[in-house]
Amino acid sequence: MKRISHLRVRPGEKVDLESIDPDFCADLEKDAARAETIVDIEALGHLQQLLYAEDRRAMLVVLQGIDTAGKDGVIRKVMTGFNPQGCVVTPFKKPAGEELQHDFLWRVHAACPRRGEIGVFNRSHYEDVLVVRVHDLVPRKRIEHRYETINHFERHLVDEGTHVVKFFLWISRDEQKRRLQERLADPEKNWKFSEADLQERGRWKEYIEAFNVALERCSTDHAPWWIVPANRKWFRDWMIARVLRNTLEGFDMQWPKPTFDPTQVKVD
Ligand code: AMP
Ligand code: MG
Repeated sequence: MKRISHLRVRPGEKVDLESIDPDFCADLEKDAARAETIVDIEALGHLQQLLYAEDRRAMLVVLQGIDTAGKDGVIRKVMTGFNPQGCVVTPFKKPAGEELQHDFLWRVHAACPRRGEIGVFNRSHYEDVLVVRVHDLVPRKRIEHRYETINHFERHLVDEGTHVVKFFLWISRDEQKRRLQERLADPEKNWKFSEADLQERGRWKEYIEAFNVALERCSTDHAPWWIVPANRKWFRDWMIARVLRNTLEGFDMQWPKPTFDPTQVKVD
């Protein structure tokens, strides 16, 4: 963890994404990192069993990042060790219908994991201070208030037994170009391409500014943000698996003690 501890945003720390190398890989070799990731993913599966068995607390994993940063890739590759029965993935799209009739946290709170579960958010309540800020979808004054609201909300989740860990996937503008071009060139990836991604790409600077503010104002001791250098997919997966494993191991979980003496029970 020492190799990546500087990528955890300390509360109050100034964030300048441009100063972080999206190619950073902690001097790891690709093959060695992949091998470690496999071991970590296996360990994650075991830890999830324990979380499920304990049935006392939950873990919420938030994934954010600009288009093509690899949110779907992380879910496909790192969450594979989890038993689907105890892991709920929720993608957040542009709010519609009933969602528009409520405050921005309404749909988010409803999607939070039950005790014993791991919840994964593909995008999250942070969209409400990111895309919403970049496009001025609500008045700036209300957005300014939302950072504090988010901190209170996450504090509440943690107090009630849901651990919150947040990953921001950081890719360079050149890497995004490559990935978008790939979506156009590969017939199996065409479906992932959307014209809107090009328009959003045109607002790169505004997005970076919005990310900087969100990471700076909403990284707390109870719900930290991790900046994940994500140009190299293998490093991205390695880092996320490592942090998740470390987080779950930190819970110091115990298998529930039976309320009976198992040696005295006879199965015919
Ligand atoms: P994707 O993740 O590629 O399926 O795209 C989902 C889209 O929904 C992205 O363009 C997000 O910015 C957008 N989106 C998600 N949450 C919100 C929100 N609260 N307000 C506006 N747009 C959102
Ligand atoms: Mg998309």
